Amino acid sequence: MDESQEPPRLRWQEATVERIVAQTPTVKSFFLRPAEPFDFIAGQHVDLRLTAPDGYQAQRSYSIGSTPGDATIELVIERLEVGEVSLFFHDVAQVGDAIEIRGPIGGHFNWRPIDGGPILLIGGGSGVVPLLSILRARRAAGSRTPMVLVYSARSLAEVIYRDELMHAAEHEDDFSMILTLTRETGPVTGARLGRIMRETIAEALEMLGEPPRLAFICGATAFVEVAAMFLIEAGVPPVRVRTERYGGSPAVALDASITLAPEA
Ligand SMILES: Cc1cc2nc3c(=O)[nH]c(=O)nc-3n(C[C@H](O)[C@H](O)[C@H](O)COP(=O)(O)OP(=O)(O)OC[C@H]3O[C@@H](n4cnc5c(N)ncnc54)[C@H](O)[C@@H]3O)c2cc1C
Repeated sequence: MDESQEPPRLRWQEATVERIVAQTPTVKSFFLRPAEPFDFIAGQHVDLRLTAPDGYQAQRSYSIGSTPGDATIELVIERLEVGEVSLFFHDVAQVGDAIEIRGPIGGHFNWRPIDGGPILLIGGGSGVVPLLSILRARRAAGSRTPMVLVYSARSLAEVIYRDELMHAAEHEDDFSMILTLTRETGPVTGARLGRIMRETIAEALEMLGEPPRLAFICGATAFVEVAAMFLIEAGVPPVRVRTERYGGSPAVALDASITLAPEA
């Protein structure tokens, strides 16, 4: 199909990098302003395309972290040591650059305030990004839909949006968070050490009070698969479980965030 005949969301356009903000030692937010602004639903993503002078192209997907209605699109990109596109963003991209973008994409992994709840959110590493957009959508609408976030990061320093999430857990009605840190050794206020386990999921379901209307799981592929298995084992019907897989090798994902058995 000729590109001009494609639906607008599938058409490539340029977006300007307006602002770059370091979130953690390995994660930065990139605020992009598309030439043709578009509305999106919390949980959706965009595709980015980079083209080298010799014509070589690389394309990747990134979740939108911003609040629906914001003029700029916030993408939160983790630096992977051997990652082609993430290294470009971390080491080369600058404010004022034009990036090819298309979207918004995704009709399954999203939530609107009118969808209601209760909602269970489970994120590993940068998988928290679309979940934050869901929380921001809830806040912007003044919604009190009950939500519990289970978030696994390697260390406190690597918790993305740490201040915003901790503030929300303390002050926002009907929102709670279980934060698990896999590589911290000492005690950390407001977080627990170790990986997400069956017991963590059971506790989150209990905090929710009633069975989730929907559960959203996002992160590296193996993280998502194991968390989905825990949820289904706990009695959540598969039809209520929505997943977004970011890729990555199973070994890396398992080591980072989730475990099948309690650690000795
Ligand atoms: C719908 C969707 C939304 C996404 N949203 C985000 C987002 O908000 N933020 C974000 O940082 N990434 C996100 N990703 C992942 C992103 O698309 C890229 O895969 C990631 O940035 C790596 O690209 P790269 O070119 O840097 O690495 P590549 O050159 O593609 O890969 C380098 C190496 O890293 C491994 N790898 C790739 N992805 C991961 C991963 N997630 N975890 C561990 N190892 C990995 C590969 O197996 C490979 O060995 C999303 C993916 C999808 C499908």
